[in-house]
Amino acid sequence: MLDETELRELARFQAQTPILSVYLDVDPTRHTSEEYLLSLRNMLKSVAEEAAKEDIEAVQRYFEHEYDWSGRGVVVFSCASSDFWRNYVLPIPVPSGVTVARRPYISPLAALLNAYGRYAVAAVNQEGIRIVLYHLGEPVHEETFVGEEVRKLKRGRGSSGGAERRGGAPSASRHMEEVAMRNLRQSLQVLERFWRQYNPRRLILAGAEPALSHFQGLLPKALQEAVIGTMGVDPDENEVDFRDRALQVLRGAEEERKAALVEAVVTAAAKGKDGVVGLDETLAALQEKRIRTLIVLRDFHTPGYRCQSCGYLTAVETEICPFCGGACVGIPDAAEAAVTRVIEDGGEVEVLENHPLLERAGIGALLRY
Ligand SMILES: [Zn+2]
Repeated sequence: MLDETELRELARFQAQTPILSVYLDVDPTRHTSEEYLLSLRNMLKSVAEEAAKEDIEAVQRYFEHEYDWSGRGVVVFSCASSDFWRNYVLPIPVPSGVTVARRPYISPLAALLNAYGRYAVAAVNQEGIRIVLYHLGEPVHEETFVGEEVRKLKRGRGSSGGAERRGGAPSASRHMEEVAMRNLRQSLQVLERFWRQYNPRRLILAGAEPALSHFQGLLPKALQEAVIGTMGVDPDENEVDFRDRALQVLRGAEEERKAALVEAVVTAAAKGKDGVVGLDETLAALQEKRIRTLIVLRDFHTPGYRCQSCGYLTAVETEICPFCGGACVGIPDAAEAAVTRVIEDGGEVEVLENHPLLERAGIGALLRY
């Protein structure tokens, strides 16, 4: 399964020969498998010069004969000469692209894990809670708690009346409210235990009012802060709808978060404190291991130079490394090299589709101190 550990392993892998990295959008709601295969062949053709023939053939074989066209996005890394092969079928679409480098091209995977890794949907009603932990859109664990039944009181029930009828209904309905509140508090305990055990990164609340608001009001601060959205649901809404709607909430939250991140980087850089914008300054910060979060536009690629001894990266033509005296060689994509380095240093990487604030610089970072 694709997770942070797997991602770090990918980040560590490097080979003497080029690695072919393939991302293929296979969303069946938009195109047929034949159309996707055609676009794959065209992409592979475009890198026929740089990639090894065995890798191109291995990727073609995989898509034509092994892959079952499940999921919405597929990522494949191949380096036959190092006996290296990884394939991931993802329930979330990935933008199609092919990269050839001496390391696997992992930044889109990093962004995907960041946005859709480990989140929980907690559906509450006045009788209990159902919590589902998801990873990349797939349910991985589920827990349900059902408390005491909350009976709906029928209006004008019974014909024998008198004093009992006058006072009976309100006190019965008050009692039911108390039962509902008790159920919500117990549901919260179940959620807190679930949280400690599985440690999700985000929480989406689902349910009908008033239980949803009541429950949200009970949440302690840490859980409040994990909430990224709420969804009103019918009690009999099915699992698929539930899942897709949760993904929509995540997508919306992801867009907002990225916009805020770009603003934070640009603002910090403008103040000359804790932030940089532009390739030169970003690479300088990288050399000092100061990058906490790297942001880079998906289409930002630019050649650069790398020291063969210490890995120093620069956008400025350099033959001798200023840090270790080693020889520097030209590399096709300094931005992608920076992405790999940041991940290896334990920093975070955000790949952005496009953003007006970053359009000219293409790359920037938030710094550690
Ligand atoms: Zn060096």
